[in-house]
Formats: sequence, structure tokens, C-alpha cells
Amino acid sequence: MRGFLRAVSDQIKLALAIRSLLPPRPADAEKRAKAREDRFRALLRYANENSPYYRKRFQGIDLATCAITDLPTFNKSQMMANLDDVLTDRALRRADLERFMSDPANIGAYFKDNYAVCHTSGSQGQPAIIVQDKKAILTTFAAQFARGKPLTRRFLPYLHKLLNPARFAIVTQRPGFYPSSTFFNYFPERARRYIKLQRLSVFDPPEVLVKQLNDGQPNFITSYTSALETITRELQAGHLKLSGDLEQITNISEPLPEPIAERVEKAFGVHVTNIYSMAECMALTCGCLVTHGSHLNDELAILEVVDANNKPVPNGTPGSKVLLTNLYNLTQPIIRYEIDDIVTISAKPCKCGSLLPLIESVDGRSKDQFWVDVNGQIRDLPYYVFLLALHTETDLAEHQFLQTGVNTFVMRASALPGRTLSAEKLRQLVKQSLTTEGLADVIRFDVELVDRIEPEASGKVRRAKNIFGPPPEAPSGQQPLMAEG
Ligand SMILES: [Zn+2]
Repeated sequence: MRGFLRAVSDQIKLALAIRSLLPPRPADAEKRAKAREDRFRALLRYANENSPYYRKRFQGIDLATCAITDLPTFNKSQMMANLDDVLTDRALRRADLERFMSDPANIGAYFKDNYAVCHTSGSQGQPAIIVQDKKAILTTFAAQFARGKPLTRRFLPYLHKLLNPARFAIVTQRPGFYPSSTFFNYFPERARRYIKLQRLSVFDPPEVLVKQLNDGQPNFITSYTSALETITRELQAGHLKLSGDLEQITNISEPLPEPIAERVEKAFGVHVTNIYSMAECMALTCGCLVTHGSHLNDELAILEVVDANNKPVPNGTPGSKVLLTNLYNLTQPIIRYEIDDIVTISAKPCKCGSLLPLIESVDGRSKDQFWVDVNGQIRDLPYYVFLLALHTETDLAEHQFLQTGVNTFVMRASALPGRTLSAEKLRQLVKQSLTTEGLADVIRFDVELVDRIEPEASGKVRRAKNIFGPPPEAPSGQQPLMAEG
């Protein structure tokens, strides 16, 4: 009975959260602005009262009246160096969180029955730990349900969905403690009865993926740009056979270059939505249903697009970085947190009619395409296979992976100040990850410990750098995906 009541109450909470996030109407503008301001002040107050780190940083600032630009900025190294003091639940300890995440049996489980824990993807160099409570996770789902998918316009009747659960294919890494996985690991039980979730791995060979997708006949496919390119090639080759039930494709975790979006859309005949988010704020945006931009969920986060000196740049102009303030995660306050992405917010209203700000483009997480030769067959190798291995190495300051030859790779790594890294431990971590993906016998891998990693001429470190070149006889469209960020 208690379980039943809790389930009903969870469902009501989800329904209310979804309702509060339905696409805004012009008449709501004032009410929404006030709600955002209230949330912002509540966050500052809460951080000041419960986080010793923020209390120190906020000294001398009138939190009831200050502008956001009066507050100090924050970055990943500061967050990780002071994590115990940043967290607002004084019972949370970094060492306990790390221990919890070191056990794969805890994937999808709540720490202390209330906290979802994950690592950042590490695409900015250093992995970090992110803790959010159940309410914050619910907000993430609610935003996606309310704004992310065309079927939410038919939110009711429930009955229809109960009889015809929407089929989702999620093509990512294998389940783990990384952001996009966390989202699906914690998918609310009550929502599961309206959907059928098929989780596939980007590391499977294309023929395995194709068979699973042919069997599952998804209505929705969510994946990374590189995997979307792969399944597009398989569709064009006639291997992938979808019977017309597909409604939408969603790109996550990687920038989506316009030519690729167009190629995928043309092949599948459905819109590709593009979500810009990160572990620090998974509910940051929802994909626009008309363009390939993302709409900022501006009651859940503040995103300041700034130049190198943290001065705001006007809409329509790309910044040098963004400062993120997460308005819904009170457990681990993230206030004016620096992220090295080059973001452009549109100066014009979006074609789709949404009143939410449009993030037109995101660049900066630049990486080259890696590839491997598996028994004479050339396959794309997502850089994630290496990143995944590093999630538990929180003494890591910077990393870079190099493809130096056919199936040979080198990792360069530097430690945080005052910490040391073991090349042997890093080698073992990567080997484990490669073994999980069935690639341990294929790839030769070396580790170089260095003091620092030299950035490119653009000032950015290229995390995945192919110094060997594309595979022989690369079919067109397999060039490195990203221009220099
Ligand atoms: Zn739009």
C-alpha cells in the first residue's frame, strides 16, 4: 500500500512538474520573470546558508539585491578541490560518492536513497562529480516531456499511450555514471509504462545496431552525431529498414553540424532535434522542433554568454565561453560556472514560435574522428570509449587522446596541482573500458604523463586529435566532424 501511494504521489509530482514547464505563452511573461527571479534569490540564499564554500565567496554581497554580475565566477577545478564544502547536504562526502560510483552495481541506484550521482563527460578535460536530488532529476524529465518531443502535444489521454507505448531507442555508451546514461538510468518508473526503452551501444558494430533497430522499430532515436551518421549510412545502404513509425531523432552530447543534420533528416524524413546540455545542468535546453538550435529552459537556468573577460556579448554574437547558473539543483549549487563552449544566442525570435531564447550554435568541444580497423573492416571509434575510462580518475587535470597509427593511440595526461597520476593505473582503466567494448585485442594503447597539454593555435586543447589521418579509402562524409573550436 505504501509503495502504491508513493507511486501515485510520484506520478502526480511528475505531472505537476510537466504542467509547470509546458511551452510558455506571451501572457505568462511577467509571471515567469518573477518566478525566475524568485528561484535565483532562493538559490543564492540556500547556497549561502548551507554551503560553507559559497558562504565564504558571498561575503560582503547583498544577496537579496545584487545583480548576477556582482557574484564571483566558479570553475570545475574550484568545484572539485572544494567539493565537500560546495555540497549543501553536510552529510555528503566526496570520498563516499567516489566509493559509491566505483561499484557498477550502483548504476541507476540513489545514493542515500535520495541522490543521483554522475561524472561529467570530461570533454572539458577534467572529470567532475555532480550530485542532484530526486526533485532535480524529476525536473529534468519534466522539461523533456513538456518541451522536447512532438508527442507531448498529445500529453493526454494517458490511455492511448498505455496501449501504444512510444518506442525509444537510445544509442549511447553502455549504462554507467555519465550524464546521458544517468538520465536514462533514473527514468521515472511511472513514465516507463508509457514508453518502451531500448538501450543500444555506439560501440557495437553497425550490423548489430541495425539488427536491433530493425527489431525495435523505434518512434524516437536519441544518439550522438557520429552514431547518427553511421545509421544514416546504413539506411542509405538499405540495411536499416524502418517501417515509417519514426517520429523524431535527437542529437545529444556532441555538436550537430548543419550539413550532417540535413543529411540525416533527408535520409530519414524526420526532424533532428538537438539538445545542448551537460551534467552540471541536464535540463539546460530542449531541442527546437523546427530548427537545429536548442531552446534555453530559462526558468531552470541562466546562461551568460561572455567574452574572455566575463563581459556579456550581445545576442547574435558568439562568446568565448558561457557562465552557467543552475536554478534547480540545490544540492550542489552551480552559480556562474565557466564552461568553455562557444555559444551564440539568436538575436531574433525562433521560427518555431517558442518564446524561449534560441541557442543557435554551440562550438568548442572540438575533436577529430578516430577510427579502427577490425578484421579489415574500418569503423568509427567514438572518443567516448576512452573518456569513459577516465570517469573515476578525479586527480586528472587535463587529457588528450591521439590516434598515432592504425589501431594505435596515445593518451597524454597531466595531474591536478599537488596530485599525482599513475600511468599504469590509467592504462588499466582504459584497458578495462576497451575490454568492455570488445576492443582490447584490437587497440594498442600508451600513456604519457606530461606537465601540461599544449593548446592548438585557437587556444583550445583538442581532446581527440588524429595525427595519423583518415582511414584508407574513407567514404565521403567520414572526414573529422568538427572544425577547430
Ligand atoms: Zn525554435
